[in-house]
Amino acid sequence: MEIKIEKTTHPKAKPDQNALGFGNYYTDHMFIMNYDEGQGWHDPRIVPYAPFELDPAAMVLHYAQEVFEGLKAYRTDKGEILLFRPDKNMERLNRSCDRLCIPKIDEAFAVEAIKTLVSVDRDWIPTAEGTSLYIRPFIFAVDAHVGVHPAKHLIFSIILSPVGAYYPEGLNPVKIYVENKYVRAVKGGVGFTKTGGNYATSLKAQDVAEKLGYTQVLWLDGVERKYVEEVGTMNVFFVLDGEVVTPSLETGSILGGITRMSCIEILKDWGYNVSERRISVDELEKAFDEGRLLEAFGSGTAAVISPIGELRVGDKVMPINNGEIGELSQKLYDELTGIQWGKRPDKFGWTVKVD
Ligand SMILES: *Cc1c(COP(=O)(O)O)cnc(C)c1O
Repeated sequence: MEIKIEKTTHPKAKPDQNALGFGNYYTDHMFIMNYDEGQGWHDPRIVPYAPFELDPAAMVLHYAQEVFEGLKAYRTDKGEILLFRPDKNMERLNRSCDRLCIPKIDEAFAVEAIKTLVSVDRDWIPTAEGTSLYIRPFIFAVDAHVGVHPAKHLIFSIILSPVGAYYPEGLNPVKIYVENKYVRAVKGGVGFTKTGGNYATSLKAQDVAEKLGYTQVLWLDGVERKYVEEVGTMNVFFVLDGEVVTPSLETGSILGGITRMSCIEILKDWGYNVSERRISVDELEKAFDEGRLLEAFGSGTAAVISPIGELRVGDKVMPINNGEIGELSQKLYDELTGIQWGKRPDKFGWTVKVD
């Protein structure tokens, strides 16, 4: 399928590269493609960035039938543009589609669509240290129908946002509140997918944590409220004496991050003993008491590695590594960002060039 390109006649002014923040600015163009029953996915096009026109009865507004992805384009010192494992994002998008009864997209074509759009808006990729172009593919149901059934008409779109570092404080360790009232996901639900509802339902706990002076919540499993699942919208790792642990994906209630997957592969390559297994809060407290909880960090595309400097469980406050970034967290951050910005050898072949 050929992607039609209609360039804007009114390019926007570019924002200050040193004050981008996250998700505040959008580029001049967007990608759109339609699905209609009987026709399949059709009419891929790049058009000037503009609002959608939606019927008030559009199904996404009522029953949240939608999925999304998040990845970045990086500008290297040589001026090249790199994507990081975009095929993995499109594989995951299709896993989300399957769970949400959304017709699957052609993964290779979707990567081409991303590359084409990034290339059209290449002047928007910031060059300041730590900045990148965030890529947000998403699919949503547009049928004008307030009955509950899988949609027959959908839109696949991609938008781009120049972003700075996710945490304005930089790599400073964050304080995390262990959430034991609200849950994010349960077995059999949609925790393993990137679908809007997961995030709408997480806001309350986030709000409570912030009011208590914490940056994010540590989510526990929805059944026993015992096992660690994720931290905010990131996967989580714990560095114990002799073992690096991250919760296993078996329960289906954890989002399989591409950063998580990459951390595991790098750590194994470095010779670390990495376990994907269940880890309870009790085990963490015990490890802390015995001085074996050496480091903890979150992993995700937006922040890459986010060190955890303090965990609070009920009234118990556990400072980790004196509230400072750990050696391994820093080493992983340097390696991953080094590969992403083309500063370090990409021995796994993870980066993809945009022409
Ligand atoms: C996106 C996301 C992650 C991280 O995935 P990456 O592919 O590493 O960006 C982790 N947890 C949740 C809930 C997410 O939405």
